[in-house]
Amino acid sequence: MENFRNLLTIFFFFSLSLLYTCLFPCVDSISTVGFHDQLRQHAGSRTVALRTKPEKYLRLRVGAPFKIALFADLHFGEDAWTDWGPRQDVNSIRVMSNVLSYETPDFVVYLGDVITANNIAVANASLYWDLAISPTRARGIPWATVFGNHDDAAFEWPMEWFSPPGIPRLRCPVSNSSCLGEEECSFRGTSRLDLIKNEIKHNELSHSRNGPKELWPSVSNYVLNLTSPEDTNSPVVFLYFLDSGGGSYPQVISSAQAEWFNSTTRMINPDSRVPEIIFWHIPSTAYKKVAPVFGIHKPCVGSINRERVAAQEAETGIMKLLVERPSVKAVFVGHNHGLDWCCPYKQLWLCFARHTGYGGYGGWPRGARILEITQKPFSLRSWIRMEDGRVHSEVVLTP
Ligand SMILES: [Zn+2]
Repeated sequence: MENFRNLLTIFFFFSLSLLYTCLFPCVDSISTVGFHDQLRQHAGSRTVALRTKPEKYLRLRVGAPFKIALFADLHFGEDAWTDWGPRQDVNSIRVMSNVLSYETPDFVVYLGDVITANNIAVANASLYWDLAISPTRARGIPWATVFGNHDDAAFEWPMEWFSPPGIPRLRCPVSNSSCLGEEECSFRGTSRLDLIKNEIKHNELSHSRNGPKELWPSVSNYVLNLTSPEDTNSPVVFLYFLDSGGGSYPQVISSAQAEWFNSTTRMINPDSRVPEIIFWHIPSTAYKKVAPVFGIHKPCVGSINRERVAAQEAETGIMKLLVERPSVKAVFVGHNHGLDWCCPYKQLWLCFARHTGYGGYGGWPRGARILEITQKPFSLRSWIRMEDGRVHSEVVLTP
């Protein structure tokens, strides 16, 4: 535990700067419980002390690049009622563990479809969410999450459970009240808000936020600031996270989210001096415009191009804002398990991550996209690290 706390000290930087807090409209003070508290809570103790921490920072280390691993489409809880399903979760943990060992990143981004909630026949899907972040947490690496279309879907009863002999295998919780019993057996899914609040509350290493209320039901909308080693008031890059919907509402980045992005950038980076990197789950329709046909050719870089881009349902303005900002370097998405390319689009790059989880469709080998950021001069480089250690598809995303 002492080592763990030392690691926390390395990765966290706390500041009391009121000015800074004012610059971030969606930043909330995060109440967290320590691991001891969490264990006590699991053990049934009622004396859980909540500690309010000052704002967290992400900071480059002196003379070292900052490395981010993207874990996309893990799909924990896939076919949770079979023997096969839980085995895939074990496989996904192995992929993440291998990638973390090979790369030792400074930060991890969970790029959506962390769980397959429509396959999870328990009321609290956070149990699976927690499992998915466990390899990163165990190494003391901070992370942030963004929602995908499978993360807050309601349980879909498998049809075969109603075929002959026709007895559903699931046993619903026994309850004194038949009404309550029916309720508990409906498994309407754990809401985005419950998932993210649970993550934040129990994990000091989590940098996730539940975003401005006026954007709900779209929840994972926030910005993180990666600062220089010397001065936490000197941002090196802004990392934007946007919720591209799906599950409990349409697959779209709304005009309200676009406006939030617009007003936030104008406030914290008005002259586009600081580079910006964008993360969300479902590719925008712009990905279709740059998608390579038959194989992957320059200037695109990647290794699998085995599907058509499954884009958001509509484009309501976010891409127009992004291409008008010279500071926006790249967008990273998951969702399409059979695509892992990066292609240039106007002045920025549109990139897929790499299918990391054994849950979800597709049998392509698993891996993770890695990003490497340097400060002086600013550069953004990326490659894909496979489960077996192989590295490929290296690309420089800055001019
Ligand atoms: Zn997926």
